[in-house]
Amino acid sequence: MTTPRILPSIDDLRQRPAVGALAAEYGSTAVLSALRAETDALRHGLSGPAPPPVTDRESAAALIERGAADRLARTYTPSLVPVINATGVIVHTNLGRAPLAPAAARRVAELAAGYTNLEYDLVEGQRGSRSVHAERLLAEVTGAPSAAVVNNNAAAVLLTLAALASGREAIVSRGELVEIGGGFRIPDVMRQSGADVREVGTTNKTRTADYAAAINERTAVILRVHPSNFRIEGFTERPALADLVALGHRFNIPVVEDLGSGNLLAALADGGIGEPVVAASVAAGAGVCCFSGDKLLGGPQAGIIVGEQALVSRIRTHPLMRALRVDKMTYAALEATLLEYARGRADTTVPVARMLHATAETVGRRAIALADRIANHDLFETDVVDGFSTVGGGGAPGSAIATRLLRLTPRDRSASWLERRLRQQRPPIIARIEDDRVLIDLRTVLPEQDAPLAEALRALS
Ligand SMILES: *Cc1c(COP(=O)(O)O)cnc(C)c1O
Repeated sequence: MTTPRILPSIDDLRQRPAVGALAAEYGSTAVLSALRAETDALRHGLSGPAPPPVTDRESAAALIERGAADRLARTYTPSLVPVINATGVIVHTNLGRAPLAPAAARRVAELAAGYTNLEYDLVEGQRGSRSVHAERLLAEVTGAPSAAVVNNNAAAVLLTLAALASGREAIVSRGELVEIGGGFRIPDVMRQSGADVREVGTTNKTRTADYAAAINERTAVILRVHPSNFRIEGFTERPALADLVALGHRFNIPVVEDLGSGNLLAALADGGIGEPVVAASVAAGAGVCCFSGDKLLGGPQAGIIVGEQALVSRIRTHPLMRALRVDKMTYAALEATLLEYARGRADTTVPVARMLHATAETVGRRAIALADRIANHDLFETDVVDGFSTVGGGGAPGSAIATRLLRLTPRDRSASWLERRLRQQRPPIIARIEDDRVLIDLRTVLPEQDAPLAEALRALS
């Protein structure tokens, strides 16, 4: 019956130097509640079936102090942390998709902590519209006269259809009624917008005549969707965008194209990874194009809508726009990223574009340098082998980019043990396993991470 006596008082605990240090770091209120919680936990523990080994007031106080420190460290730590992406998947959805260009990250840091002219017209000295931001640069890189930016491409498609086709029909090919991932299903999004889905054609073949036969007085738009992470091969047919545009013109119906990835570089289209270029769709006459900001474009999470003035204006003034709009940090990052494209240097300054362009030789040289720095490791052997990186993020389905991989062959442990150890590093190193070996693809590792990665691998035990 002596158990409560060995519990120190909160006042006694607060006198301890280590507790004082905790208060300096986390504030006295947080420390007080952590001390109370740990004291209660110890009181319960002492009367339970497996009491902790405390014999006097000092050992109890030490236990409470340690518990409080752990509890505070757990609570007061961001759960979102940087990781090293060694998977070779460039637009890795689970790893936050596109890393920002340094210029874009700097721009966010410059603008985020202060006031900006987000909705202020500096010439007139009065309220302005946030939708002017990024519009000039988007016009420059896509050729479209007008633009709007929302939270992501799913929102862009939803808003576009709500503004242009709610209560009317949107024609779409059965071959394009896809699920993108994360539960984004084109037919569901179409219905949520209030548009009636008018399916035409078949899964593998849809012709311009199928669209033409479906047009009636309720038709509002022709929707064309990039099938994204999925591909139909063999006996297939899909009209050229220009043919759908010509059909639309005859009936005064706009073509809305969901491009998915938002590729701005011609080099990545034909002969590259085969992703359609936004400017080509605009030039072919699509009334509205929607695409992601953080897939191939390599910018912040955003949904970008570009197109004809009259259509984009209806989209911007739709009530849903208020719910889907983006903040100053997104505009800051997006404008800085677009500027790199406008200046024609994105392929070296925007990480996603740079990673897509890197040759297997370049990646291989880094892999060899890394192998040299961690030679003769106790836990694994290293060698450098050929392999493939992928685009990811639903872009360029099936695309494989030749790369060179650092291969770690564990000596005694399993590859999954090694992979887990890599994940436990700070920053965590995310790698993949193939044939009971761990593969490190430096294509997706930022160059400034090569040194910390080498150090982490060398020190691994
Ligand atoms: C990825 C994708 C979307 C969804 O874009 P988010 O930016 O992830 O919302 C929509 N349509 C297509 C074709 C896509 O590839």
